[in-house]
Amino acid sequence: MAKVMVITGGGRGIGAATACLAAQKGYAVCVNYRQNEAAARAVVTQIEQQGGRAIALPADISSEADVMHLFNTVDTQLGPLTALVNNAGIIDQQSRVEDFTVERLNKIFATNVVGSFLCAREAIKRMSTKNGGAGGAIVNVSSGASRAGSPNAYVDYAASKGAIDTMTIGLSKELAAEGIRVNAVRPGFIDTDIHADGGEPNRVERVKSFVPMKRVGQPHEIATAILWLLSDEASYTTGAFVDVAGGL
Ligand code: NAP
Repeated sequence: MAKVMVITGGGRGIGAATACLAAQKGYAVCVNYRQNEAAARAVVTQIEQQGGRAIALPADISSEADVMHLFNTVDTQLGPLTALVNNAGIIDQQSRVEDFTVERLNKIFATNVVGSFLCAREAIKRMSTKNGGAGGAIVNVSSGASRAGSPNAYVDYAASKGAIDTMTIGLSKELAAEGIRVNAVRPGFIDTDIHADGGEPNRVERVKSFVPMKRVGQPHEIATAILWLLSDEASYTTGAFVDVAGGL
């Protein structure tokens, strides 16, 4: 069966590394992005130059209309979905809870939690054997923050990843008899652009001494875990968490 993947936030960081590795492993990949079209197109070009198949599609995953359009377009352009990577996620400026605005909270949860649920819903409609699908796999990109809580920086983000952990547990059980496995990776500190969005572009340099392995991770080190969880090698693995965090 042809392998078709949607990866949200596939244009940069962990998502881009995962899209490229997925293509190497034979997936036709939908590289979703929110606003950085150039980055997503560069990932598609890289995949095509290596003989793979990919398309770049815009969608804000916190918008139900965008998500439905995204999955409908994948149906027609790539064929039946077999894998979803719920990767897109955001942080806001490092801050204490007493200073959080309701706008910040709504944006974090709308993207990280509601967006992941909306994408899972559309994937289930297509992949569940109960709905006539051929099965598939979902990997949620959570964070070590769900265990650490991210005090004085992003307790909202950490809580949103806690929700993703619980979603992974519940959804894995809900779908286990319908041919869909659901797992999560929990990255530690990974060298991507996301830290600049929190107001500290060099955060990875500052925090690496806290990591037992004394270095931060690279996006491809998360991508390999995601692709293993999606693969038949993980055929009896569902509801599992892979901490890829250098010992944190
Ligand atoms: P990143 O480099 O900032 O990339 C984020 C990606 O998500 C971008 O492609 C962005 O699209 C996309 N995105 C953001 N909001 C979106 C929305 N509403 N709809 C669709 N796409 C959206 O981030 P990253 O570090 O690779 O993080 C990827 C995932 O890993 C996130 O869930 C993050 O929480 C998690 N994580 C990261 C770390 C770390 O240290 N880096 C640690 C633990 C967990 P555009 O390119 O269009 O802006």
